[in-house]
Amino acid sequence: MKSSTNENKESSRDHEMRIGSGYDSHPLVPGRKLILGGVAIPFTRGLLGWSDADVAIHAIIDALCGAADLGDIGTLFPPQDPEYEDISSLTLLAKTGKLVKDRNFGIVNIDVTIIAQQPHLSPFTPKMRERLGQALKIDPARITVKATSTNGLGFIGREEGIAAQAVALLSNYPTTIP
Ligand SMILES: [Zn+2]
Repeated sequence: MKSSTNENKESSRDHEMRIGSGYDSHPLVPGRKLILGGVAIPFTRGLLGWSDADVAIHAIIDALCGAADLGDIGTLFPPQDPEYEDISSLTLLAKTGKLVKDRNFGIVNIDVTIIAQQPHLSPFTPKMRERLGQALKIDPARITVKATSTNGLGFIGREEGIAAQAVALLSNYPTTIP
């Protein structure tokens, strides 16, 4: 038999919101396509990784994993697994979105910042929002994409790599979904 204290705990869990954060970085190398936020960006180099190395999506996946207690991107989609070689990270994002939904969470919002010295990314962010929204089956208005640089500092400033950080807020209020 439940004590009233436990019932109170249970009811507060009925209306739960959870936040998660994610970070990722990959090296920039010649001979690879640059894919960020699911969009191919014209550039002389691309990011090196097992999948398409889309840092923005990888940061979002880790933010969703953190918020929904799903482990992390490496446990969900192990690197070196042939199934994920050169896979579009949009596919991985769609799978993660399904797992989040299976846990009865809706996505309130996602905010991602891409940190790159080059190229200039702001012309591409509306398309990124659209692609990310499609993969997650949510309104693109729930996803914000920002681009910044490190003003020449560090490995990003030297154009050796690109990083991204993201936060995701989830809710199990049915009325907030999608
Ligand atoms: Zn990654």
